[in-house]
Order: sequence, then structure tokens, then C-alpha cells
Amino acid sequence: MSAATLVIQTAFLGDVVLTTPLLSALSARHGPVDVVTTPVAAPLLETHPAVRTVIPYEKRGRDRGWAGLRRLGGRLKSERYERAYLPHRSLRTATLALLARIPSRIGFSGPWSFLYTDSRPKSRTGHEADRLLALANEAPGAYAPHLRPTPADEGAAAALVAEPFVALAPGSIWGSKRWPYYAALAAKLAAHVQVVVIGGKDDLELGAEIVAAVGPPALGGRVVSACGRLTLRESAALIGRATALVTNDSAPLHLATAMGTPVVALFGPTVTEFGFGPMRAGDVALGVDGLLCRPCSSHGPPQCPLGHHRCMRELTVAAVFAAIEDMGALRRRR
Ligand code: SF4
Repeated sequence: MSAATLVIQTAFLGDVVLTTPLLSALSARHGPVDVVTTPVAAPLLETHPAVRTVIPYEKRGRDRGWAGLRRLGGRLKSERYERAYLPHRSLRTATLALLARIPSRIGFSGPWSFLYTDSRPKSRTGHEADRLLALANEAPGAYAPHLRPTPADEGAAAALVAEPFVALAPGSIWGSKRWPYYAALAAKLAAHVQVVVIGGKDDLELGAEIVAAVGPPALGGRVVSACGRLTLRESAALIGRATALVTNDSAPLHLATAMGTPVVALFGPTVTEFGFGPMRAGDVALGVDGLLCRPCSSHGPPQCPLGHHRCMRELTVAAVFAAIEDMGALRRRR
């Protein structure tokens, strides 16, 4: 039997995590949904209880170009979906739903909404997770971001570190969003608690710098770098085991929200008012107030356009450490 509902979400990883409340709402209404998403995000959704099937769309690989789009559209057409929800405003997404001949296509108003059968205005305020959830006419907070790693994922995370720890996620694909003092913070934290660095293969160097600042585990340094050692879902499981996650305005923030882990989020060129801040009670967002240049872009430029990067450099280790301490993460057991 075909799942009646398809969701197409091929935006960044964090956006996919923030789409999970919409998936939950649609599943409650229509039954588990099928999702077209990026190959990177696919494993995260494969184990989500609201999802029946994940269809990876390799828009830069085998599905690239018009031929790839048509091929995928044909495959989706054979599934005879009744409705498609299109939270990502993109021509490619709108075209894919059209090629799949899905009779009801629901998305946000924008340049491509003439390709939808039902377009709804997207709120400029509130959290992005709630703005996306509104596509299903649900009230803010009706469903929360959620991920479900498998027992095997949990086992891999548990094998890496057994004692309570604070996790640090120092990476970001946007250079100006990276707080430059994670190594100093780790050295200070390690006097009180085990520290674990979270990241992918691109963050290996950052992880090594932080380990060097604390001192290698073999010599008693209370730090482990998990960078490049775990799959994305195992990393979500690891974040779920932390007493707190310190992160930039990037995907790990949303992974922590979905895993129920307390967050200290560090905002530089962006601000929480954009709708991508922490969501849960007790979470903390820190940023430098009173900078006339801040915010300077919706994503954060690769480098500070003014060269001084004050939005991040003036956020002190002491302030971040105090936030971690105040939320009780140095004494809490998960
Ligand atoms: S221009 Fe201002 S807000 Fe933007 S990166 Fe530089 S210091 Fe930060």
C-alpha cells in the first residue's frame, strides 16, 4: 500500500531536524509519511517513528540535473501519493512534486507557489520548527523536534565514553559562526567534568586542537574527540547522553533539541530572532549585545566582513563556563 503523504525537505541538516515536528503532525493525521531528503540527513529520518520510507535525493550526485529530477519524479509518481508537503521553498522541490503528479501540493507562499495547489504564508516570527509545523495548521509547540537513534547507535555512543560529560560542537560550515575559544573552554571544563568533542571528519583538526589543549586522554586529560568516529545517528545518540552541549548556531544545536539535551548556544553573526535558537526551557543562547554590525547575514559569512570578528571574540570563556555551571551540567548525571 502506498503511503498517502510525501514530504520533500532537501535543505540543510538542521532544517531537516526542525521539520520533524511537521512529520509527527502529518503522521498523526494521515499515517507514517514518506520523505525525500538529502543523503546526509536520510539516516536520521530512517528511524523516526513518523516516517515510513526515506528516499535520498542526491541532487549533486546521481540525481543531478534535469534528467535526475525527472527520473526521481517518475519514481515518486509510481507511488501515487495523495498529497505532498513542501516546507523548503525551492524551484527544484516544487518541480519534483509536480513531476510526481501529486494532486495536492502544499507549500509556503513564495516565487514558486504558483506550482502548488495550496500555498500558505510563512510566519516571519517564532521558531523555525513551529513555522514549518504551521504548514499542517498546527499550533506552535503542538509537536517538538524528535530523533530516535537505534540501540546499536546508543551502544556505539556508550562505548566511546561511559562517565557523565559535557559535549562541545566547535564546527560550522560558516566560518564566521565558529566561536574561537573552544580549546580554552575545554581546558577549564576538564578540571570539573569529562569533555567530549562532537563533529564530523571536517572537524578532525578542531577536535585535535581541543584534545591538545586539555592534554591527551592517555596522560589523564579528561577529553575525548569523537570527530569523524561516529555516524550522524550515533553522534545524535552521543549528544543525547551529554549533560549539556555547547554549540555554535549550527546543526548540533538542533540535534540536541531533538535529543532533549540542555544547550548553551553561541550566536555571533546571527541572532536567535531568526528562528533557529534553542527551544527548550532552561536552554541558554549567548551573544554579544550592542554591536552595530550584528547580525550581518542570515547564515553567517565565511569570514567576518569587517575583519575583527568581535561578535565571537568578545564572547568570553568565563561567560560560557558560567552558563554551563548555572544550568547544573557540571554536577548532573544523565
Ligand atoms: S560583521 Fe559583525 S556580526 Fe558580522 S561577523 Fe563581523 S563582527 Fe560578527
